[in-house]
Amino acid sequence: MSLQGKTALVTGSTSGIGLGIALTLAKAGANLVLNGFGDASAVIEQVKQYGGKVGHHPADVSDVAQIADMIAYAEREFGGVDILVNNAGIQHVDAVEDFPVESWDKIIAINLSSVFHSTRLCLPGMRAKGWGRIVNIASVHGLVGSSGKAAYVAAKHGVIGLTKVVGLETAASNVTCNAICPGWVLTPLVQKQIDDRAAQTGDLEQAKHDLLAEKQPSLEFVTPSQLGELTVFLCSEAGAQVRGAAWNIDGGWLAR
Ligand code: NAD
Repeated sequence: MSLQGKTALVTGSTSGIGLGIALTLAKAGANLVLNGFGDASAVIEQVKQYGGKVGHHPADVSDVAQIADMIAYAEREFGGVDILVNNAGIQHVDAVEDFPVESWDKIIAINLSSVFHSTRLCLPGMRAKGWGRIVNIASVHGLVGSSGKAAYVAAKHGVIGLTKVVGLETAASNVTCNAICPGWVLTPLVQKQIDDRAAQTGDLEQAKHDLLAEKQPSLEFVTPSQLGELTVFLCSEAGAQVRGAAWNIDGGWLAR
């Protein structure tokens, strides 16, 4: 599968799943617009090894104007966004009655509203070119709930709803929109949850095992590169009629 000549914008790609997806898309030949916090220079070098053009825009995707600026940058410097991967996301764990209102607002802005804004801003360019792929990194938490994750679960269910609507609105075109729903992936976002568990017992390996055993029957983490390969498939001709789907890749989480 060659994505040569296509430009992919992956939000939140300076770390974790976004970085894994960016690397896999670059390996498949795509040019990359990276986004996310932190020093991006090492990540840019990593992605550059595959030979495509690589840039980074530091937009905070909780801010609509910054999202618009990032997409204008992609249009100016790369000729537009052919593949949009909405991946940036954060987590906060607390019971509903203790859930800080600022955390709720931030999670909805980053995990849900940003997907709406980047989609509405990229779609006209995709339609004009007659080809496009939108891949939203939702979660199994877009399909089932877990205690303590009110905002995250609400946002991810929202992403899947939005994915279905965009999938329908683009159904008669060469633009597709789908969601990927990972189970546990060992990234900084999940490491924090493991560390919080280990803080109570002092046993990091046990905390990791317990986290998996509760939900993921394979007892293995999904990897960022597996998510990258699924993204590449959704960008391929073989994936052209996958539309509005919520595709779980979760070590069996949703099978029970
Ligand atoms: P991560 O913390 O490793 O990476 C998050 C990325 O998003 C980083 O690059 C960070 O800089 C960026 N980011 C955070 N806030 C941002 C903002 N306001 N603007 C721009 N960039 C921002 O997390 P991850 O585990 O790789 O998660 C990536 C996505 O995958 C999230 O949407 C998450 O909900 C989803 N997901 C993760 C798991 C998992 O087990 N790790 C499972 C299912 C879904």
